[in-house]
Amino acid sequence: MAAGGKSGKVVIRNIGLLLSGDLERPILEADTIVVVDGIITQVGKAADCDTDQSVTLIDAKQTCVAPGLIDSHVHPVFGDWTPRQNQLGWIDSTMNGGVTTMISAGEVHLPGRPKDIVGLKALAITAQRAFDNFRPGGVKVLAGAPVIEKGMVESDFAELAAAGVRLLGEVGLGSVKAGYEAQQMVAWARRHGIQSTIHTGGPSIPGSGLIDKDVVLEADADVIGHINGGHTSLSERDVCTLCEKSPRAIEIVHNGNEKTAIAAAQAALQLKCPHRVILGTDGPAGSGVQPLGLLRLIALLSSLGKIPAELVFCFATGNTAKLRGLNCGLIEPGRDADFVFMDRAQHSAGRTLLDSVQLGDIPGVGMVMIDGLVRCGRSRNTPPATEVPVVLTPA
Ligand SMILES: [Zn+2]
Repeated sequence: MAAGGKSGKVVIRNIGLLLSGDLERPILEADTIVVVDGIITQVGKAADCDTDQSVTLIDAKQTCVAPGLIDSHVHPVFGDWTPRQNQLGWIDSTMNGGVTTMISAGEVHLPGRPKDIVGLKALAITAQRAFDNFRPGGVKVLAGAPVIEKGMVESDFAELAAAGVRLLGEVGLGSVKAGYEAQQMVAWARRHGIQSTIHTGGPSIPGSGLIDKDVVLEADADVIGHINGGHTSLSERDVCTLCEKSPRAIEIVHNGNEKTAIAAAQAALQLKCPHRVILGTDGPAGSGVQPLGLLRLIALLSSLGKIPAELVFCFATGNTAKLRGLNCGLIEPGRDADFVFMDRAQHSAGRTLLDSVQLGDIPGVGMVMIDGLVRCGRSRNTPPATEVPVVLTPA
């Protein structure tokens, strides 16, 4: 590692399959990536890239490189601890599942979470700062997502935005549950550059409530959060109506209803808006922590949903980056060097990585890189990848 925690120059060669994260061109004709100080500078054939004098040289061993996965829906609290299941190290464990960025949908599991307006603003600002200063496993946790409550006024949103808050927690988890009320606060948030998401479906745990399709449409949040429920889904007809009537992001989560997950993804394809589909886990949750949740969701949508695997990987990377204004998630010069190296799991019936995913198997992760720095080698959580990349220098 070069001084100051920067990656210096990194060369990744001998890539067998390069997934771009971009639906328009999901597979790139390239075998080499060059990174300087955490940013991609070149993507191409080895002969066309400047590969001299790297600080780190990696032989991808003909495996697949994809953008690091983005979990669009998590509920972090502080550090690498979740009180929901009283578990330590869940973010680092999820990085071993290929996730390099997580987006908070609210720090709702904080014991004693404040619900008064000054308290909820203070918590959001503190969470944003804390995760900005501390990245478990190197994962970029975009946190500080306040749960809106009755009585908030526009100046509260202006104040949050000025303090660096960029996200709202799931609308509907607080006292604001009516469509008209949510719509006004979502509009205030949007006016001040704060992105919003809404809880969709039945209550998650005792104490939360139902948000039905009419409330989702009226509130008009930027993201239709867990459109397939978290856990309890609206009817398949209502889910498809949301895809059709709302222009907003269609977020599908692992901890939701699997049948309507597939229905939502297929509806988006039929409506010719696959760019609206983004993926998350909605973990930690009552169902636990799922370090492989995104990989499992990708395999589900590709196998049972019959969607080409290279497109489903875009749902979990480039789509999310574009819809949420992030600099990761795509493999192109100027983007963050956040990568997951994968190969078909050992003894998968699939002949290639993409084939194995389409058959319903999850891939083996061989390495994860964030900002050009190697964060893990062979994953401790996925089934073993058939082939794994090798760091040639430093040896
Ligand atoms: Zn929810």
